[in-house]
Amino acid sequence: MAETLMIYDGTTSETAAGPRTGGVPLVPVGFTWPECGTCEGAMQFLAHLPRDHGVVSVFKCANDPGQCEEWEAFDGGNRAYLFPHDGLVPATVPTEGETRLGAVSAIRTETVDEAAGYDSARQTYATRCGRGRAVLGSLGGEPSWYYEEQRPNCQGCGQAMEFVAHLEEGNDSATAANLGGGLGYVLTCTPCAEAVFLIQS
Ligand SMILES: [Zn+2]
Ligand SMILES: [Zn+2]
Repeated sequence: MAETLMIYDGTTSETAAGPRTGGVPLVPVGFTWPECGTCEGAMQFLAHLPRDHGVVSVFKCANDPGQCEEWEAFDGGNRAYLFPHDGLVPATVPTEGETRLGAVSAIRTETVDEAAGYDSARQTYATRCGRGRAVLGSLGGEPSWYYEEQRPNCQGCGQAMEFVAHLEEGNDSATAANLGGGLGYVLTCTPCAEAVFLIQS
């Protein structure tokens, strides 16, 4: 089965419409920037991922790394959204808190034929290209769970959620997200227009 890897493609503008990590999120008018359930600070924007069923926008708390339940899907330390494609505008970024990554990274996709799943596909790419950190994650396909039992169900309808993306920390350690060395998982429920983010390591 083929894995669609997300590959670092240089820097881009902070409000670019294409897939990227960092920059300014594109949001519906009237959007309220998410706050952490633990420290109540403004969250950090991680990724803008346009998909067929909407635009997925991913945030986590970076104000107090490791202390704010940012690993869990529903404990208030992170937030993801599934927005409709139309009518999105750049968000107003809060002036306080760790709200932005240190770089805006464009994402291109590369398909790797790899029967053994994401981790293996990532290693195949790294071996071939010599740049393991250039892999920013993957889109679609099957999630590579460390703990499958933590796969979340939608809190709206109780159904299994659709896997959207793996997210790695980033291309450059100086500007990457802090996922504690773990791997991020983005899932959505299209009927409920919901999205979640969690981290496993
Ligand atoms: Zn926090
Ligand atoms: Zn649902």
